[in-house]
Amino acid sequence: MSSSPFWSARVAALSPYVPGEQPRVDGLVKLNTNENPFPPSPAAVAAIAAAASSLALYPDPASTDFRQAVAEHMGLPIDHVFAGNGSDEVLGLTFAALLKHDKPILFPDITYSFYPSYCKLFEVDYTTVPVREDFGVVLDDYSTDNGGVIFANPNAPTGLGLPLADIEAFLNRNTGSVVVVDEAYVDFGAESAASLVSRYPNLLVVQTLSKSRSLAGMRVGFALGHPLLIQALERVKNSFNSYPLDRLAIAAATAAMRDTAYFEQTRQAVMATRTRMTEGLQALGFEVLASQTNFIFTRHPQHNGKQLADALRARKVLVRRFDAPRIDQHLRISVGSDAQTDVLLAALKEILG
Ligand code: PMP
Repeated sequence: MSSSPFWSARVAALSPYVPGEQPRVDGLVKLNTNENPFPPSPAAVAAIAAAASSLALYPDPASTDFRQAVAEHMGLPIDHVFAGNGSDEVLGLTFAALLKHDKPILFPDITYSFYPSYCKLFEVDYTTVPVREDFGVVLDDYSTDNGGVIFANPNAPTGLGLPLADIEAFLNRNTGSVVVVDEAYVDFGAESAASLVSRYPNLLVVQTLSKSRSLAGMRVGFALGHPLLIQALERVKNSFNSYPLDRLAIAAATAAMRDTAYFEQTRQAVMATRTRMTEGLQALGFEVLASQTNFIFTRHPQHNGKQLADALRARKVLVRRFDAPRIDQHLRISVGSDAQTDVLLAALKEILG
């Protein structure tokens, strides 16, 4: 790694997150970054076209229309909703605003690999808590005194979800620090903690429109929590970028949030394909974790993970693999369309011989 005398010590010490590849060639079956195989809601596309002629004007710094749509969907007052440029930005602001205290924060050792990157950037101490043998996050293991707790539910890259009752029991024990539940994938079959935010003033729930609303390219995420938590996020946001959502994003996200019928139809279709994909992989001898997300975490007991990923890539199928202890033999495969699933399964069949 190169460095420069012009860099601050903090920049030199960063460990930036590396997102999955966005290939610049056509014709790949792209199952590596958990995008939705369906296009965004037609109402969102129409809203973008309608908003384009107003682009000479700055957007609403508070993204009021979008936050109102989220508030209505969640049955919460608008002062419980914060909006940001993708949930990655919302998470980043959360680390800066709510997770930097004197004690280390806690998160699972196997989880979204962006969390340690934020910790480096905002100089937040952290301790990782090992997931159990079966990759489950067990909140009983998070009993040490902490400056905050963050976990993804369902977790990534495992796809495993926790029951809401476990989260509520944890909130009753862990009352002295902020608990952040990253629900990027919750709409694909897990239980959201959104219903708890009005009762637990230290709970922040973070969601995204990148997955279940097919808007990864638009960059919209949000947080739900007690107004005092939301105000902390606003203070940091307004010390950094007043306008995280542009006019097109606000228009698209508001329309997507209100198009409940399309949301239901597409997420049900993704879950149905997930079942097909699971069964197809199992028939080829793969071990598949029970996914509550739009991706599958799987390994083949007789085949090397890297070799499988490389062989798929040679057949123009992109999947994700992590060079990390305990999971380096696994593949994380996004649930694509039925046609993409057919290509994936045919390629694996050929590779396994
Ligand atoms: N949380 C988790 C667990 C994720 O996997 C992702 C997607 N990489 C995100 C948050 C961020 O998604 P986005 O910034 O697109 O909202």
